[in-house]
Amino acid sequence: MNICSPLLEINLKAIYHNAKLIVEKGKEMGIYIDGVTKVSLGDPKIADILVKAGVRGLSDSRIESIKRMREEVDIEYTLIRLPCFSQVEEEVKYADVSLNSEIMTLRALEEASERLGKKHKVIIMVEMGDIREGIWKKDELIMVVKEVLRMKNLELYGLGTNFTCFGGVVPTVETYWEFIDLVEKIEKTFSINLPLISAGNSSSIPLLFEGKIPKKINHLRIGEGIMLGKDTAFRNPIPGARLDTFRFIGEILEIKEKPSMPWGVINEDAFAHKPSFVDKGIRRRALMNFGRQDIDPQGIIPEIPGIEVLGATSDYTVVDIGDYDLKVGDSLSFSLNYSALLQAFTSPYVKKIYKE
Ligand SMILES: *Cc1c(COP(=O)(O)O)cnc(C)c1O
Repeated sequence: MNICSPLLEINLKAIYHNAKLIVEKGKEMGIYIDGVTKVSLGDPKIADILVKAGVRGLSDSRIESIKRMREEVDIEYTLIRLPCFSQVEEEVKYADVSLNSEIMTLRALEEASERLGKKHKVIIMVEMGDIREGIWKKDELIMVVKEVLRMKNLELYGLGTNFTCFGGVVPTVETYWEFIDLVEKIEKTFSINLPLISAGNSSSIPLLFEGKIPKKINHLRIGEGIMLGKDTAFRNPIPGARLDTFRFIGEILEIKEKPSMPWGVINEDAFAHKPSFVDKGIRRRALMNFGRQDIDPQGIIPEIPGIEVLGATSDYTVVDIGDYDLKVGDSLSFSLNYSALLQAFTSPYVKKIYKE
């Protein structure tokens, strides 16, 4: 039986190429690279090629994904979303490392590690301006580090910070020096040497490739840069990276000539937005077999130039196909941005296929 589902084509060779490129640049600069698999929901095939490309470890935001990858790929796993207080046992069981900012959760992790007879490594997150996770007040940081150092089952593995996720704050050489200053104060106060100084994600790629990341920093957690071949500070292609890592493919269900403006009494669309339209007269439009359940309509770009995505409801996407010679049953393919890619991986209706 042929199931009419949109396809996400995953190009493992292209992903490998990008991972290798970034890992090698990291080596040259003295920076370990962890591969972040969260956009792929911890796809074990992707995990496997990241490891083959030489990443130091794998990071994911969900413990279920780490558990799944662990069954097939053996490497150090980091939980990069803050652990859930209510599931610390799972977290200690499946993740070797976690990023943390709450002393309550750290105490619970310590107890769970004790119960399970397993050591767990923790990276304490510091807030540097992007205002998502991390400790901002220096007194609190000192208090947390002090207590963690006394815990028997947790190992203080490093300090970390994150950029360009919530606040859109881009890392700079100056913010890196501020972070290093803080790290060195902590190391001096407690007479310790932290193994990992983990200073960010794909928005650090421009500084990495320009060789501007100060020496003390030795770790980055990279997802999007590997998956899409672009940095996330300015969304520029990474020099030498492949941009053909993923394709989204859908089938045409209807082709009709219709006015480009709706008519009748117009209020809100199905998503409570007031829709706006540009009058381009009568146009040839295709209805595709996917919608918001499968992708972010603003995050897909048709591979054929001149074809335009007009919008989407839950299960349809409306595309202006101009004069292209297309018929019902034909396929159209699209490139995806991060938001659309995440949605495509998350949708159970999108069939994932691998191009080896
Ligand atoms: C998502 C995430 C990353 C990876 O970000 P990319 O932009 O995909 O490289 C790194 N660290 C943390 C804490 C994250 O949540």
